[in-house]
Formats: sequence, structure tokens, C-alpha cells
Amino acid sequence: DFRFGPTLGEGSYSTVILAREIESGREYAMKVLEKRHIMREKKVPQVEREKQVLSRLDHPFFVRLYFTFQDTERLYFGLSVARKGELLSKIKQLGKFDLECSRFYTAQIVSALQHLHSLNIIHRDLKPENILFNDKMQIQITDFGTAKELKDSGDEPRSSSFVGTAQYVSPELLKDKKACKSSDLWALGCIVYQMLTGQFPFKAPNEYLIFQQIVNCKYEFPEDFDPNARDLISSLLQLDPMMRLGSSSCGGYEKLMEHPFFTGIDWENLANQAAPKTMLALAGDSSDEDTTHSSDWDYFAKGNLILKQATKCNKHCCDPAGLIGSNKITVGVEISQDPLLWACGIIKKSILFMFLGQLEKKRGFSVKLREFLLTEGPKLIYIDPNSKEVKGEIPWSSELRTEPKSFRIFFVHTPNRTYHLIDKSNNALIWCKKIEEIKKH
Ligand code: ATP
Repeated sequence: DFRFGPTLGEGSYSTVILAREIESGREYAMKVLEKRHIMREKKVPQVEREKQVLSRLDHPFFVRLYFTFQDTERLYFGLSVARKGELLSKIKQLGKFDLECSRFYTAQIVSALQHLHSLNIIHRDLKPENILFNDKMQIQITDFGTAKELKDSGDEPRSSSFVGTAQYVSPELLKDKKACKSSDLWALGCIVYQMLTGQFPFKAPNEYLIFQQIVNCKYEFPEDFDPNARDLISSLLQLDPMMRLGSSSCGGYEKLMEHPFFTGIDWENLANQAAPKTMLALAGDSSDEDTTHSSDWDYFAKGNLILKQATKCNKHCCDPAGLIGSNKITVGVEISQDPLLWACGIIKKSILFMFLGQLEKKRGFSVKLREFLLTEGPKLIYIDPNSKEVKGEIPWSSELRTEPKSFRIFFVHTPNRTYHLIDKSNNALIWCKKIEEIKKH
């Protein structure tokens, strides 16, 4: 039903891929999760929570979940596409936001939080990395794996496991292991500060010192800081969650929206307003954006494509009976001119290639680009693509086993070593499948 295109992003537990529904032509950000990986990492409750919370949200400033489905190995979440990058990368690109931009996006976050809290849900990990942009440069808040659905109104702090990110974590969570709706308002205060200054309000060389500053509410404003913005941030960064502007004890969202910082904001029509020009300009040349070149849509065909090219120029191609379906090719030494086939010249013999392609081989902090050849033997040989020297071989044995981590990353386990391999063209799953096929054969 879908054509899969380029990868939009990768998380610890998922790969998000642009997918086009063939019948309607509609695009989705397809979040794909490996069941095995989720279970191994004990993240089943988080994934269930994410689905549960996303399906309750109905607001323009949240990523929308349109559908979910699964196959034997993976779960798929069909999400609205937010391909213009994260708030964090925009702040980094601009250094900091001007007042107009900060006001516009603060208002959008406030509007989104109002909706979330009206459903008695707290996000608990609100931060610029989790605020994405769609094509109109409107925010799309994401990452509900650590969100919490509350049984009561959630105004009073209540026990909570430690979740969140050091720079945005609230003092009540650090001191009393408690969180409430107001904890998201604390994070909002940190984000407004970061938009206007390009810095975290609480910064220190390590997490312990950051936490010390948070529990003492120790931060400073730069000189000449806008007085309304200063007042808003100070009202949000209150140690007592009940004293935070926006909390029910301080007049709720109505009071927050009336703050002078928001003068001129049309709350009713926020989603229909054009984004600030600076941001639209950023969207135009966004590096996050180049995701729709039609050639990229050959994503799943790539493995076969290499072999097709190889076959075309191979005079000695033969087809040994049903070894591994269509992906087999015999290559003779004398035709090694083709860039994809020079390897056989190096190995200096006729060889049956089952699969080949460039992978990054990671060991500790070193990452090396290698041409990997899965050949008869079976052998997994790797070659330096520049010097064209054979650099080594992953020792094959019956104990060799593959483990896909994502579309890019996979491991090859051998009794003495685990090889950490990265396929920038997203063929990790195909690599694992090919290796396992050969092993089975
Ligand atoms: P983590 O727990 O590490 O944050 P995760 O596995 O829950 O990861 P997400 O954070 O949801 O994954 O997504 C991974 C990346 O994919 C994001 O950082 C973002 O770049 C991209 N992404 C996620 N959702 C979308 C979307 N709707 N549209 C476009 N890109 C997206």
C-alpha cells in the first residue's frame, strides 16, 4: 500500500521514514519500530503509551497519528509529516530568536499545552528536540513515550519516576520525585529562555551541578533583556509548582495567555497565521528538507539495483541453480573495470558475489568506510575503497549471527567479536537477510 522513501530521522527505538500511500498519494511519516528491539530494551509500556496518548490528541500543534499497523517483525505508526527539522536546530542556526519569533512559537506551545493538560495528560519531556516543524513552519510536538495520563486533574504534584532531560527537568521532580501539569510549564519557561538567548537557563559542566542550580532556581538574564519576556520567564520558573503562571492555582491558561508578552497574539487563529519570515526563509534552505528527490524512492530496491548494474557489464555472469533467488552473480577477473566490480580484481579470482555495498565499520570511536562483499565461501570480506586493499574478513562460522538495530545499523556477532556496521543507504535489514539466507543455505 505504501512506497517507502528517504529516512526522516532516527531515534533510539525507531526509524522514521517518509512513506507515500500509493492509492491516495498522501504522505506520512512512518515510524517503524522493531518488535525484537523494543522487547529486548523493555520499552513495550512506552510504545503502548505513545500510541494511547497520540490517538487521544486532536490539535494542530501536535504530530497526528493517523493509523497503526504491524507485520511479524515491526510496528508502524502513520504520523503527520514534520520534515522541517527541530526547534533546537533552528535556534542553533539563528543563534537565538528575535522577539517576534519567540512570541509566535511560545504562543503555539502554550496553545498545545492547554489542549494536552485539558485531557489530563502531561508530556514530561518537553524540550526543543521534541518540537518539530511542518512545511508551514508550525510546531508539531512529538515524543509521547514518557507522557503520563493522569487519573485526577493533575494540578497537585504526584509521584513520578524520573523522566525528562537534565536542562528542562523541574525542581519538584528532583526534590520530591513528583510531577504535575506545572512541570511542563517549568520546561516551557526553560524553552522561552533558550529561544531568546540561545542558551539554557541552567547550565553547568555536569548534570549534578545543573540539578543544584535548578533546585535553587539559580539563573541570570542577559543585560537588556526584554522586560515582558523576563517577567514571563520568571513567572514560569517558580520553584513552587502551584505558583507558576498557567497553573490552576494561578488563574490557569487564561491568565497565562493574558500576559503582556503575548500582546498582539490572536489565540483563536494561531494555526492559520503565517510563520515569521525568518523561519519561512530557514525552511526554504533547510537541510532537513531535501527528502523528496524521486531517486530516493528506490529505497527498497537499492540492493537489487547494485546487482543489476553488476550483471549488465558482466560477461561471465552465470546462474547457479537457485542459490539465493535473484541476487547471485559470478564475476570474472577480467571485467573488473566497472567501479562496482573492481573488488574481484583485487581478490584475483572468479568469485560469486551474493551482495555488496559500502558500510561504515565502527569500533570504539573509530568509524571506517569499507566496501563489504558477501561472497561464496561463504565470506564477508571488507576492502578499503580508496586504497583498494583487502582489509579483513568477518570470520564465518555456524555461530555467526546478525542483529538489525535499525534501518541503518546492524551487528554481526561472531564468537570473539561483534561488528558494528552502519549502512547509510538504509539497507541494514537487507544485509541481515542476505547473510542469514547464506548461513541457512
Ligand atoms: P528517542 O526516544 O531517541 O527520541 P524514538 O525512537 O522515540 O527516539 P522519535 O524521537 O519519535 O523516535 O523520532 C526519531 C526522529 O525521527 C526524530 O528525532 C525526528 O527527527 C524524526 N521524526 C519523528 N517524527 C517525525 C515526523 N512526524 N515527521 C518527520 N520526522 C519525524
